[in-house]
Order: sequence, then C-alpha cells, then structure tokens
Amino acid sequence: MDLDDTDVHILKGIQDDARVSYRTLAKKIGVSVPTISARVSTLQELGIIRGYRTDIDPQRLDEEQVLVVVKCTPAAKSEIASALAEFEEVRWVGTAREPKVIALATVTSEGRIEPLLDQVSQVPEVLDYECLDIASVVKDVSAAIITEGLSTTLICFQCKDPIHGEPVKVKMDRRDHYFCCHSCERLYIERYQRIKEKAQV
Ligand SMILES: [Zn+2]
Repeated sequence: MDLDDTDVHILKGIQDDARVSYRTLAKKIGVSVPTISARVSTLQELGIIRGYRTDIDPQRLDEEQVLVVVKCTPAAKSEIASALAEFEEVRWVGTAREPKVIALATVTSEGRIEPLLDQVSQVPEVLDYECLDIASVVKDVSAAIITEGLSTTLICFQCKDPIHGEPVKVKMDRRDHYFCCHSCERLYIERYQRIKEKAQV
C-alpha cells in the first residue's frame, strides 16, 4: 500500500517531535484533527509507528556503548540474536545477510560487558566475535527516512501477519481497517465493540 502525502507529513511531524499535538499537526498539514487522529491510529495498527520514546543520551549519563559483531554458523543466526536480545545491556540486535549477528550494547558505570561476552563465546555455534568500544557518537537519529513515495506491506489488524493478496477492508469510525481473512475481521470487530461498550459505561 502506498502512503499518501498526509501520512508522510504526519510521520515527519511526529518523528521530529513525538509530543506535537494533533491540533498543531492538523494546522500545519491543513487537515482536520479527527483526520490526524484516524491516520495516526492506522499507522500504529500497521506497525509503522512503533511507539513514542524519549531520546535520552547515554553519554550524558556516563554510560559506554559497545558494538558486538558475532560470526556464527548460518543456521544459528536467529537463535543467537534472540539470546543476545535477552540481555538488558543489549539495546539493539540485528542479523546480517551474512552469517553474522550485530548488537549494540550499553554498559552502565557499574555494569560490565565481559559476562555477556563470556556467554556469547560459550555458544557452540559462535565461531568468532569482535567487540568495539564506541569512542564517540557523531550521529544518532531515528532509523526511518521519511520522504515522499513511501509504501508499506499491509498487515492484518487482528493477527498482525502480512496480508498477501486482496485485503478484507472494513470502514469503522471513519477509517479503514484491514484484515487477512473474514475470521480475523470477525474477531477484531467483536473485540472493538467490547472496548467501545466498556468505554461508554
Ligand atoms: Zn489476520
């Protein structure tokens, strides 16, 4: 599905400032407040807006960052990535197309990276690893680049799986809802009505 200009302007606006009010956004973009609210809900349901975080600088808190690159057997990639993700110190993990896992960890003044690395090195599928202490961070911004002509794969509002083929499209409360099948549609609408009834009590 292609995102239109309104979606792009909304994403840009809230990426720059998650605390911007819908009223300010509406005025800036030239649409109504209910339009902003409906679009933001849809962008959340589609998993494009993942959340609203505050950007706290670890360096200002005397915390150190460490980049870990783990070389492993191809089959073990996702398992090792999940294992790394379990550590609180690990703040970002990804798998490369190559048989490697990359993690960015933050070490507090009392914390140490060695226990984490010890555990990593003991996993039999780990062939080698490299650990780089970050000396300075020159740039650290949101990963998504918001520009015209963005598109997304629709995901089912109920089961959250990608929708292949024609989606089941339902308009409720002035906005489109997408489902992979009619049973997901039914489950979602039941849940939606229960929440609405509760809100009205
Ligand atoms: Zn579904």
